[in-house]
Amino acid sequence: QYDVLIVGAGPAGAAAAVYSARKGLKTALVAEKFGGQVTETLGIENFLSVKATQGPQLVAQLEEHVRDYDVDLITHQKAQSLRSDNGFTLDLESGAQLTAKSVVVATGARWREMNVPGEKEYRGHGVAYCPHCDGPLFKGKRVAVIGGGNSGIEAAIDLANITDHVTVLEFAEQLRADAVLIKKARSLGNITIITQAQTTEVLGDGNKVTGLTYLDRATQQVQHVELAGIFVQIGLLPNTDWLKDTLTLSPQGEVITDKHGATSMAGVFAAGDVTDTPYKQIIIAIGSGATASLGAFDYLIRHDEN
Ligand code: FAD
Repeated sequence: QYDVLIVGAGPAGAAAAVYSARKGLKTALVAEKFGGQVTETLGIENFLSVKATQGPQLVAQLEEHVRDYDVDLITHQKAQSLRSDNGFTLDLESGAQLTAKSVVVATGARWREMNVPGEKEYRGHGVAYCPHCDGPLFKGKRVAVIGGGNSGIEAAIDLANITDHVTVLEFAEQLRADAVLIKKARSLGNITIITQAQTTEVLGDGNKVTGLTYLDRATQQVQHVELAGIFVQIGLLPNTDWLKDTLTLSPQGEVITDKHGATSMAGVFAAGDVTDTPYKQIIIAIGSGATASLGAFDYLIRHDEN
């Protein structure tokens, strides 16, 4: 039985593992894949103290750091369910089980994709999902934001400060963002909002994005927009399917945590993009991984009789 079982090995899980091992706790880190979303990231320029790095390089450094400690690193294993029974039992899809006195959930999230031709091909070459991360790459250029919900309109306002022009494309007849955000976006001179627009293809020159096409659902005409970047803002899906019946989740499916990273189940903590933290970033995931492990340590010293 482990003292702390960490599920998910992105930045949040990696930080939780280091903090837990440094407390002398018997620690395991189990995940489908070490690195999480960072594996898919090209340039990273907002991880403080490292001016510029690339996803795979940061992942290798995180893994090296974790391996410096006495942590059982178990990869290629997917969590299926979590049970509380005199401690906790984690059932894996492979049929194996792991038991622990406390658990840190750090299974992250994934961006909802448009699923149109060109999107995958130009991911990281003009197709982006995170305005905080990639906005500055499009300084002085024309970009589009796909999605007119709160995250889409917030992204448009953010990008309007950095880029030359932003076109917002919303599938529905109306924007779904809060009125105050829509008012702000409409007050800016370099945002064009188009509703009833179904993005149909990402266009590129073989190296990078050059534009997109969309179907004007009102007129059934196909339209073309020339631009350098496309920010897809149609939802971030937390990886919590395996926790639906176990922990209290937000309406978006995120694990609700308190200041200590504690969840609705005593002894289970959570960190990173899987939680209801409003901002999803590497530096934030790492901080919350540390918090969750310190929370688990506090829990163990109060509850562990052995
Ligand atoms: P994740 O990185 O999502 O890791 C989740 C972990 O859980 C993985 O190990 C995964 O294999 C595992 N897992 C998931 N489900 C299960 C399961 N059922 N069983 C077992 N394991 C499971 N942030 C920045 O700060 N700067 C950037 O420049 C930046 N660029 C980005 C670019 C892209 C393309 C993307 C997608 C994200 C970017 N982000 C960036 C956001 C950043 O990557 C995330 O905020 C961060 O990775 C969240 O860390 P996490 O540990 O919470 O989750």
